[in-house]
Parts: sequence; structure tokens; C-alpha cells
Amino acid sequence: MKFLSRIFRRKSCGVCGKKPVKPSYYYNDKDEKIPVCYKCVEYAERRAYQKA
Ligand SMILES: [Zn+2]
Repeated sequence: MKFLSRIFRRKSCGVCGKKPVKPSYYYNDKDEKIPVCYKCVEYAERRAYQKA
């Protein structure tokens, strides 16, 4: 289940957890590449995520 949830998380926005619309990719504080939907890009920038 852990493996499955990891795959699921990769497909969803790393900020809001919803299916990302026009995602941009960022590295979060765990150095994981996460999709961030266009609505959450501002939040990702504020969290100082590195753009992938
Ligand atoms: Zn989002």
C-alpha cells in the first residue's frame, strides 16, 4: 500500500493533493520531484521549492 500511495502522490498535486491541471514540477523539501498545479505554483514559490 505504501508503494501504491507513492505512485498516487506523484500523480497528484504536491500541494493540494488534487489532480494537477497544467502542472509545473518542483522539488519539495524532501528533494522529491512533485507536480504542482497552476493554482498552487504561488504556494510552491512561497515555500521556496526549487523549480525542476
Ligand atoms: Zn494544487
